[in-house]
Amino acid sequence: MSTLAEVLERQTREAASELYEPIDDKRIRCYACGHECPIPDGAAGVCRVRFNRGGRLMVPWGYAAGLQCDPIEKKPFFHVRPGGLAYSFGMLGCDLHCSYCQNWVTSQALRDPRAVSPPLGADPAAIARDAVRQGAFAVVSTYNEPLITSEWAVAIFKEAKAAGLMTGYVSNGNGTARVLEYLRPWTDLFKVDLKSFDDRHYRQLGGRLQPILDTIRRLHAMDFWVEIVTLLIAGFNDGDEELARLTGFVAGVSPDIPWHVTGFHGDYKMTDPPDTTPEMLERAAEIGRRSGLRFVYAGNRPGSVGDLEDTRCPTCGYSLIERFAYHVRAYRLTADGACPKCGTAIPGRWASRFDGQVTARPFRPR
Ligand code: SF4
Repeated sequence: MSTLAEVLERQTREAASELYEPIDDKRIRCYACGHECPIPDGAAGVCRVRFNRGGRLMVPWGYAAGLQCDPIEKKPFFHVRPGGLAYSFGMLGCDLHCSYCQNWVTSQALRDPRAVSPPLGADPAAIARDAVRQGAFAVVSTYNEPLITSEWAVAIFKEAKAAGLMTGYVSNGNGTARVLEYLRPWTDLFKVDLKSFDDRHYRQLGGRLQPILDTIRRLHAMDFWVEIVTLLIAGFNDGDEELARLTGFVAGVSPDIPWHVTGFHGDYKMTDPPDTTPEMLERAAEIGRRSGLRFVYAGNRPGSVGDLEDTRCPTCGYSLIERFAYHVRAYRLTADGACPKCGTAIPGRWASRFDGQVTARPFRPR
């Protein structure tokens, strides 16, 4: 019987020419993520899913390791078509190895024998058709790190765009200028995990801080719609000073970028830190506000964080969108995405009207 690695080795095609180049007659360099791996012939990059075969970079193609219909609030995007359905797909593998990963079954499939998520053959046009049939307004690449499987995501996004859908990435943000240029024509939304503001912590996870910061700046400058998430973990990234620097950085890129600070619960190999309390989330949110961020949200503790699940007008304080977990309980934005009380324009990708919520819970495609 074939191993997972052997199966995946067959599910490949050559990388986009924009995403790699020869270094010399033995090695090529991949630009799909911030590692920019130099890869010798016969070897794979850090992500283990992109490999050099005779001077050609081979990359994942033609399968899905997960398909699910999610409320857009789950991604989370809070400033994009609230109540809408995001048709979500994933492949396998990641360029980091976070010990607390909540998607480790797919992200660590090639590193951890306990992570088993069988790939199923898939077709971009069929995925876009199914997304429309399910009532989705967007197709989102998620569950594994989408940057490392960007060719396949773009193939699906081209079909999705032709069908009138929006498209998005749920990413760790370890990008490069080249991969963002490659994605820009086909990708609308980008959620980035900003996991810490300490490079030593990023190195523990297998990355570096600088490429993530560069990616956030570039995404905003290139007019992707960006929301940022920080999973708050006691003893890892919850120091006041670190949070002030992290949120100060985001506010410096734009105070209009929504920042979600979310609660940790023990997962995968990280089970020691205590679960994040609502008080910790509220303290972090206050630091974010003091840094100048205008839209700060607390996640994973529904009903316990006051109005930190809601969108309020940053000018007059009027409650614009009320939420409980993924459920949109009230929606009061005007058709052009402004506060009905004071007229302040609220940044986002809003629909001209709210037609109710498709679902407040994820479900398998019907
Ligand atoms: S996607 Fe990143 S980790 Fe994978 S080969 Fe390319 S540069 Fe290396």
